[in-house]
Amino acid sequence: MAEFPIDRAVALLEEEVKGLQAPVVDLVAAQTRDPFRILVATILSARTRDEVTAAACRRLFKRVAAPEDLEALRVDELEKVIYPVGFYRSKAKHLARLPAALREYFQGRIPDDVESLVRLPGVGRKTANLVVAVAFNKPAVCVDTHVHRIMNIWGYVKTKTPLETETVLRQKLPRKYWIRINSLLVAFGQAVCKPVRPHCDRCVLFDICPRIGVTPRRPPKTQARRVRQTMTRKNVKKLVSWNVNGLRAALQKGFVDVFRELDADVVALQEIKVSPDQLPDDVVKMDGYASYWYPAGRKGYSGTAVFTRLEPVQVIYGLDNHDFDQEGRALTLEFDDFYLVNLYFPNAQPGLKRLDFKIAFNRAVHAFLGRLAGRKSVVACGDFNVAHKPIDLANPKANEQNPGYSARERAWMDEVVAAGYVDTFRKFNQEPGQYTWWTYRFNARSRNIGWRIDYFLVDPASEGRVVNAAIHGDITGSDHCPISIGFK
Ligand code: SF4
Repeated sequence: MAEFPIDRAVALLEEEVKGLQAPVVDLVAAQTRDPFRILVATILSARTRDEVTAAACRRLFKRVAAPEDLEALRVDELEKVIYPVGFYRSKAKHLARLPAALREYFQGRIPDDVESLVRLPGVGRKTANLVVAVAFNKPAVCVDTHVHRIMNIWGYVKTKTPLETETVLRQKLPRKYWIRINSLLVAFGQAVCKPVRPHCDRCVLFDICPRIGVTPRRPPKTQARRVRQTMTRKNVKKLVSWNVNGLRAALQKGFVDVFRELDADVVALQEIKVSPDQLPDDVVKMDGYASYWYPAGRKGYSGTAVFTRLEPVQVIYGLDNHDFDQEGRALTLEFDDFYLVNLYFPNAQPGLKRLDFKIAFNRAVHAFLGRLAGRKSVVACGDFNVAHKPIDLANPKANEQNPGYSARERAWMDEVVAAGYVDTFRKFNQEPGQYTWWTYRFNARSRNIGWRIDYFLVDPASEGRVVNAAIHGDITGSDHCPISIGFK
């Protein structure tokens, strides 16, 4: 494939964005050249829609003009002022600690380089790069989700994470575009090249864009029919979760036919063991669906993906923890009125060798779900790699010391349920012998010697939104079977 013509694209986009809404941090920068306000706006903007960030900035800047003003506000007051920005509790704590950190490290001044900025509370590389570029007009490559996504659509980079994209762009993107590229692609990504069904039909880059991994905006007839079917279900969304134990292997066993039969609105996959560039195009771009991928750094191992007919507001890759995130174990899609958190929990391994790692992952997940549940409904699904109760496996006594049923793993499930999360399957079905995983050995599946280790949990306030839950034990293609819920 010919190299993507980046100069032409940037020139066309410079014209295009003149008619588009500027990203919120640029608006703050245009109104005030104050690095402190730009830093605060950038911290607030992470994982938050621009209109929400803009409103929070307006409220906050009425009371806060300089770092010392932040110290006059208690954390709970700060929380109220900035709510409902994403992760407002953590951000309030970070803002409260900001003045002291600025005094301690930088004599109260806002530093103008990335390495210094990342020493401040709540400031990661993306925030630091954006502050350097927007507040100080110095070359820095800020890679937010739009930059990462669109650069891959163009084939200008072939990367799995924003950090990898930043590294590649530092090497190949002409330096003259470093400052502008984030603003251009955020504005363009919000209005035209949207995460789901971008407006290719009216895009100025149509002739030069290879549209890698893009689902066309105009739905094919089959999708239109499915959308109508979904509507007749009175807006009950069908959500499916399935550990496919290697998507390439599952494809050989009829995955595509099963996928179509399931006719779900969202399909969350675990243990995909593949990245999208290793798959045929018609799988990555399944008719009527957008897909999101979070493969592990190690090839052929772990990883998660989500196919969706619903347009997400944002996609969150990982748990902000390098050890877990390099295994691609948590992929979250935020929709208008709920979060779908797709999880692939680690296996504790024979001899419980990886139990500590697993429990640390479990705790990080629990904390993450708690933060999300403060904002809207949370649906957490996936392979939890634990049978909770004796009813959830064929041979509980024999497995009490084994991975997947050890005391600490079950105790963690107890904690989550005690916190109010609802095991949706057990809300509707108390029967024994309901399993989602069977070892390939000993004819276990035909004898139903299995474990129920795949779950859909919902947060305490959302139980009433679950209208059904099912285990699709007749579907083969993996050592796990799919599970689903109806969610209104
Ligand atoms: S042609 Fe489509 S995929 Fe390519 S940049 Fe434009 S909107 Fe995005």
